[in-house]
Amino acid sequence: MLETPPENLQLISQLQTWLRSWYGIEATLSPMAGYIDLNFKVSLSTGIKYVLKVNIDLSDENYLAAETNVLVSLQGGNREEAIYPEVIPKLDGTFLTRVTLVTGQKAMVRLLTFLEGTFYAQSTSSPSLAFGFGKFLAHLHSDLVAIENVNIKARHIVWDLQNALDLKPHLSAIPNPQRKRLAAYFFLQFEMVAIPVLKNLPKQLTHNDANDWNVLTHENEVTGIIDFGDLVYAPPIQEIATALAYAMMHSDAPLEVARQLLKGYQQVHSLEQKGIEVLYYLIAARLCTTAICTAVERKNGNNSGYVSVSEEGAWRLLEYLHRTNPKKASLLWSNPNVPKKETAHLFKERKNLFSNAMSISYQEPLHMEKAALQYMYDENGEAFLDCVNNIMHVGHCHPKVVQAAQKQLALLNTNTRYIYQSLTDYAKQLLSYFPERLCKVFFVNSGSAAADLALRLARNHTGRDQMLVMEHGYHGNSTATIEVSHYKYAGKGGPGRKPWIYEAPLPMNQQETPKVRVKEWIEKPVAGFIAESIVGCGGQVVFPEGYLNEIYDQVKAQGGVCIADEVQTGFGRVGTNFWAYELYEVEPDIVVLGKPMGNGHPLAAVVTTSEIAESFETGMEFFSSFGGNPVSCEVGKAVLEVIEEEGLQENARLVGSHLKTGLENLKGLFPCISEIRGSGLFLGVELVNSKGRADEVLATALVNALRQKGILLSTDGPHHNVIKIKPPMVFSQRNGDLLLKHLEEFLRAYFPS
Ligand code: PMP
Repeated sequence: MLETPPENLQLISQLQTWLRSWYGIEATLSPMAGYIDLNFKVSLSTGIKYVLKVNIDLSDENYLAAETNVLVSLQGGNREEAIYPEVIPKLDGTFLTRVTLVTGQKAMVRLLTFLEGTFYAQSTSSPSLAFGFGKFLAHLHSDLVAIENVNIKARHIVWDLQNALDLKPHLSAIPNPQRKRLAAYFFLQFEMVAIPVLKNLPKQLTHNDANDWNVLTHENEVTGIIDFGDLVYAPPIQEIATALAYAMMHSDAPLEVARQLLKGYQQVHSLEQKGIEVLYYLIAARLCTTAICTAVERKNGNNSGYVSVSEEGAWRLLEYLHRTNPKKASLLWSNPNVPKKETAHLFKERKNLFSNAMSISYQEPLHMEKAALQYMYDENGEAFLDCVNNIMHVGHCHPKVVQAAQKQLALLNTNTRYIYQSLTDYAKQLLSYFPERLCKVFFVNSGSAAADLALRLARNHTGRDQMLVMEHGYHGNSTATIEVSHYKYAGKGGPGRKPWIYEAPLPMNQQETPKVRVKEWIEKPVAGFIAESIVGCGGQVVFPEGYLNEIYDQVKAQGGVCIADEVQTGFGRVGTNFWAYELYEVEPDIVVLGKPMGNGHPLAAVVTTSEIAESFETGMEFFSSFGGNPVSCEVGKAVLEVIEEEGLQENARLVGSHLKTGLENLKGLFPCISEIRGSGLFLGVELVNSKGRADEVLATALVNALRQKGILLSTDGPHHNVIKIKPPMVFSQRNGDLLLKHLEEFLRAYFPS
């Protein structure tokens, strides 16, 4: 109950006069909470209570009459106790009165019975309460199903989930970028997955706001529902989604509470399976609606507690849903049906169709179905925290990137032989991240194609074929890039070094810095030198101070060009810098970009100087069918924009250093960790045995054990004993803590003290 502000006293006296003359009631009035309209509790000396509703939002006057008609239609029946508010007729038999308040506002006034009970929000959550809630909703639907009302049918409100996407332009009112991203993600899924189903489900009149402050309980039973201000025609599953949004918010076991509620509902009415399958996204959309409407109200200066009553709970539940595979929910909630096990069959077919040269992660392979930002969901309903996919730079299915691609695909997709805005816009945007001398760009479709082109550029520019390459380096799968990838040509099944390739030793730990002796390493002057800025396949190896600078100086001095491969490390991943080569203050002549550039869309590039680009103008055309197409350019632009808007480079710096500190602590506890390497969200954990030798067995066991805990990692390095950590850049500190917790638990179990 709220305090009565003095300015309300005059209004209360006016309302009391009306109550006296219209209803013959002598009563005291006290204000009650309300979203926009005014509600008063009316108490008679006899103990009887009513609710006086004073609607000042008259934007939909037809609706007020319609709502009143529905309440009147619901009245009566043969229930002992009323479960819906009843409208009290005036002495003249009418229900609704148009008035002008002392405040000058126009309003419509109605008197309703007061339902006793405890709000669901204040009740103790339990499976039986949820079960009863489900049954209650089903009975409510039985009562509403026969009511036809054209005004309600014509109603269009954002609180009707079918119209939730009307709120899309208001996502920008959410100030926190992580929350905005999550809401945008759920809206995208709602649009793609749920709306097409929702559109085809049968509709009926629904209450549409079974929230925790509208539902009344008594002794662990739902006993009533109030506030019929949001009635709409909608599929019943939509009502359930709304009820669940709140019931789940109040529970420590949200999926189970939902299961109970659905069970209760289905004891009375059955639900269509396809509705249950999208329920997860309907709940999420309802939570987004709450969150966005609150953010909009707050932006407009409305800070009242009523507006934000469910806000934190809504965000918590959205985050919980994000950590939960939607399939887990739909399997748990579905009518008994045995899910088909497709994985073994697909695995077998794959073996028949593809070469065994292709590998597959994990002893027990994963069959993925969906992914969401830093999570992946498999076909069994499990959710996985992705700690290794640096391609999904701004997050799996990031809504901004997906929508950029969808939109451009529908408008124009062509090639660089035409002029179009996206190409120049994106080139300018990308080049703004480089020093002025790196001012020419070529777009291609893979890191391999980019590295291949970089080699051609270097060779054309110098007229030489020889290349100096970094030991354990990897640059691609094409013939020319395999030749410069020591990791491949000198690795298992590799053809060995070609005579025109020379090797620079990779310092495997920070303590020993080999002397740079380019003249001794090469037999003939080289066209150039190629190296990753942190050697990924080599095991996340960062160069010791001065090492790369000295190689660059000596290679340039003998007339070669220096190529930085930023395919794994670029776009803010190292945290302190946008490009990892900036860690060393070197000046590459050519930079190779790939993986994260298109967030999974095949987009790669070579950036170089105008001199090197000019040397390539020999008369032979350079053309890539797909490189630089408008869809790719729009995707690339969206990725850069998300990195900026969401502060992802800074996130990589902060979360990365938090994670590195945690890993250093683990290194202090477990001698099997010999080194923590890397920068930002590009880290490596080297594992050794008691003799200090690479421990591939331990690394493999760790990766497989953490997969069972829902954490995805991989190994790399020449001895496959380095755990690679390079998650999508939306990885949070909380995600980092979870990873650390599971690493520690695994190591404690592996090395019992
Ligand atoms: N360079 C580096 C450093 C890479 O890690 C990779 C891919 N792992 C490539 C180049 C080749 O890129 P892609 O697989 O896109 O051809």
